[in-house]
Amino acid sequence: MRDVHVDQITKAVSEMCQSAGVTLSDDMLEALQKAHREEESPLGRHALEILLENAEMATGSALPYCQDCGFSVVFAKLGQDCHVIGGSLTEAINEGIRQGYGEGLLRASILKSPIDRENTGDNTPAVIHYEVVPGDRLELAITLKGGGSENMSRQAMLKPADGVEGVKRFVVDTVANAGPNACPPLVPGIGLGGTFDKSTYLAKKAIMRPIGQFNSDPQIAELEKEMLVLCNETGVGPQGLGGTVTCLWTPIEVYPCHVTALPVAVNIQCHANRRREVTL
Ligand code: SF4
Repeated sequence: MRDVHVDQITKAVSEMCQSAGVTLSDDMLEALQKAHREEESPLGRHALEILLENAEMATGSALPYCQDCGFSVVFAKLGQDCHVIGGSLTEAINEGIRQGYGEGLLRASILKSPIDRENTGDNTPAVIHYEVVPGDRLELAITLKGGGSENMSRQAMLKPADGVEGVKRFVVDTVANAGPNACPPLVPGIGLGGTFDKSTYLAKKAIMRPIGQFNSDPQIAELEKEMLVLCNETGVGPQGLGGTVTCLWTPIEVYPCHVTALPVAVNIQCHANRRREVTL
């Protein structure tokens, strides 16, 4: 059994929030640079130039990459031989977000209630997905998930007869329907299979994967490649100004499903694809 103190967790979460809120990860920056090289529309290229300039300015000035500093979504993998000491794991994560958003001057966007709509003032609570895994480590991955792109996400319980063609149609329609509202170029995370709720979890999990890291199942990896081509054929383009790069990456996560079902979810991630991860 290995001990991890809650203070370590709070510190790590705070640092990830502050870093992710300002600086895009290398894979995301490289994806935007590649998009800029490959985009065929002059207007689309210009939009990408502005996004790259924005990324550089944010890093240089320590100002947030985007005014919407997002909902903090955390994936916590707790090794079954890892013992969290000194307090509650959930509280430690939320305290890290509280400190990170405060010290990093990141905008607080979370409301106490969807009805009363009063801001909690510190961007807590996070949405936390826990998973117990073998080992004695605690892995934490965080995304600062923008509201505009989240709003354009969708889920469908397709019929088995819709097949993979139905899945492709649904994903492409979702991306096309998102249009400029989701701040493209996008990373639509695709969750395929499971139950209604599991499919949306898989879609969120998909956007946590580094850009360019294909699904380990070769059949799904092929589908990821095809989905990227199809999504880019929508012509939405960077910032919805038209062009050949609407999506940077179309990661898919799958899970077994019921014989009567074909659940599919698309969690749209925007160009402010802010992710960090740490192992304690
Ligand atoms: S959708 Fe993304 S890029 Fe657009 S405002 Fe929200 S966080 Fe920023």
